[in-house]
Amino acid sequence: MTSVPKVLILGAGFAGLGAARKLAKAPVDVVLVDRHDYHTFQPLLYQVATDILDPETVGHPVREYVDNQPNLRFVTAKVSGIDIAARNVTFEDWEDQTYDYLVVGLGARANFFGTPGADEHAFPLYTLNHAIRLKNHVLEQFEAAVKAPPPEAPEMMDVVIVGGGPTGVETAGAMADLLYVTMARDAPRYPIGNASITLVEHGDRLLRMFNESMSEYTKEALEERGVTVRLGESVAQIDQGSVTLGSGEVINAPTTVWGAGLTTSPLAASLSDDLQHGRVPVGPLLNLAEHPEVYVAGDLAWAKDARSGEVLPQLGSVALQAGEHIGRTIDRTLRKHKDPEPFHYIDKGSMATIGRGAAVGVIPPGLHLTGRPAFLTWGAVHLALLNGADSKTAALTNWFWTWMRHDRPSRVLIHPDEED
Ligand SMILES: Cc1cc2nc3c(=O)[nH]c(=O)nc-3n(C[C@H](O)[C@H](O)[C@H](O)COP(=O)(O)OP(=O)(O)OC[C@H]3O[C@@H](n4cnc5c(N)ncnc54)[C@H](O)[C@@H]3O)c2cc1C
Repeated sequence: MTSVPKVLILGAGFAGLGAARKLAKAPVDVVLVDRHDYHTFQPLLYQVATDILDPETVGHPVREYVDNQPNLRFVTAKVSGIDIAARNVTFEDWEDQTYDYLVVGLGARANFFGTPGADEHAFPLYTLNHAIRLKNHVLEQFEAAVKAPPPEAPEMMDVVIVGGGPTGVETAGAMADLLYVTMARDAPRYPIGNASITLVEHGDRLLRMFNESMSEYTKEALEERGVTVRLGESVAQIDQGSVTLGSGEVINAPTTVWGAGLTTSPLAASLSDDLQHGRVPVGPLLNLAEHPEVYVAGDLAWAKDARSGEVLPQLGSVALQAGEHIGRTIDRTLRKHKDPEPFHYIDKGSMATIGRGAAVGVIPPGLHLTGRPAFLTWGAVHLALLNGADSKTAALTNWFWTWMRHDRPSRVLIHPDEED
């Protein structure tokens, strides 16, 4: 039996899956590893947290993405160490793996920037578990609120959201629809509609990746929905039930959502001793200068575009294209058909939703959309990006109930560990 090179891919996110799929016909053995048996479609996590979508619509089985690849084995295991000198990877719950090529796409994680109390009391929104925890917490608050004397009920539903980027804005808009429309209707005798939703952003505008008029539109659309937008404010401390701003003002917050920044895994340090904001610097082929057999892509990588020279943002579209590029590069290197090419990112636009009928988006080469056209475009794009007919159908059905009927079909609280 002749042996073929082994490609070990760490992480089945956008980058890892992109690489895996482009190796389907390559003369290699692919081992794809993730700590979960599902791929998370992070752009829709806020919809799980606010009861619009079920977790299964946003977390899709990894095996379904790669089930037609006989040269690939998918394993669920948690990476604990990477030794690039020894070409060896260790796992918490699996035997060591060696490799000929390594693709690292382990993503990023929430960055609390050392804010006291954030780690213990805030709800980050980066994984499916985070989204389910936030969803359950809000539903538990609601159940507690309808047991409380009516004057106290709204305070139990107050929410503070930290960070005015896409995660904060989309969560704030969806939370407003949930509290002020669905829950207010669910509990007509309780003044849930008096609960406050406060979005805190330390910069001077929301959604900095868009132009100023789109930022202004976003702020107005959120305010119309009942969200209080606090610009130029920092969060100094988070306690159980409250948030203290830099100015010393204390805001009631039984629920604090953290959407303010990213850092990467401590494993990044085993790939480079010159990390840039926690990210691993890579060359034009997305590999390490000293170890060209090691590729890094997605949120973990500090990669520059081959044409513009600009550092690429931490976006799903960048991660997917970079992963695919790595898969093609390894394939080309092995087949010696063509020389590998430096990575150039094709920007297909960016979008964010604010709530029913409201969104912002930029579609290259310069089409700026707001309002209903942006909202409909956002829906069509995300439907196309979701994997599997089952997830697409579920998303479409739930969006119909949410935005046409103001209902939230997923607002059920499930505690599997509880005795019935
Ligand atoms: C709330 C939110 C909204 C977003 N919205 C958008 C959007 O609208 N548009 C857009 O383009 N981008 C968006 N992004 C960014 C986008 O989701 C990321 O850029 C993209 O997921 C990065 O892909 P990745 O493959 O690098 O990492 P990920 O997709 O995070 O994948 C990393 C994988 O590694 C696995 N992993 C991590 N550590 C270990 C370990 N120790 N052992 C084993 N496995 C491990 C994880 O389980 C995960 O599956 C959003 C992100 C968030 C959090």
